[in-house]
Amino acid sequence: MTATVLVVEDEPAIREGLVATLESEGYTTTAVADGNAALAALRGTAPDLVLLDIMLPGRNGYDVCRDLRRLHPRLPVIMLTAKSEEIDKVIGLELGADDYITKPFGVRELLARIGAVLRRSAPTVPPPADPDRAEPFVFGEARIDPAALRGQLADCGFDLTPRELRLLEFLHDRPGMVLGRDRLLHEVWDYEHIGNTRTLDQHIAMLRKKIEPDPRHPRYLTTVHGAGYRYEGE
Ligand code: CA
Repeated sequence: MTATVLVVEDEPAIREGLVATLESEGYTTTAVADGNAALAALRGTAPDLVLLDIMLPGRNGYDVCRDLRRLHPRLPVIMLTAKSEEIDKVIGLELGADDYITKPFGVRELLARIGAVLRRSAPTVPPPADPDRAEPFVFGEARIDPAALRGQLADCGFDLTPRELRLLEFLHDRPGMVLGRDRLLHEVWDYEHIGNTRTLDQHIAMLRKKIEPDPRHPRYLTTVHGAGYRYEGE
């Protein structure tokens, strides 16, 4: 199977480097330099994954990501960020990007992230063994519908990425237990994680915005200082 990657990057050297790297690994690529070209490319056929630069001429990567999600809600997106502070925005805006990579990045990291995101999004990946897994469940005050990748808190519906769902499921199955960051990264990210726990913390922050009645004062998905996170149960 050959996965197709759409590369959206305005800097020619980076764009061409990405294309060369991906093609040498057996990926098929389409490369464009701005958001309009990206959306035009997506109207034809959906790639398997999008590498999306944030700092683009004209419409930036955030806007492009939002539009792209409208066209293809499940299409995996990895954002390319130039500065570490942009990461907050990627996650904070709830754009639904599946991952991000901070420039400059190494080839190995890039390929690991792409491989991991593709594995998670692949329709051939079987759901977790628990046959009840597809059944809706309650997390705190939120109702989660795994099959739809949707949740509901009071009157507000929200979307979940596959990874957020997996994180919720893992926590939900272990109410009251303190789960260390390393363990969560290992269990939920299912690949050799490169480096830091910030990704996890950002996902927790994102989930709190969705499932906590007051995200600034979490009641259900709590931090255990110096240890990790805990699901407090319903
Ligand atoms: Ca750029």
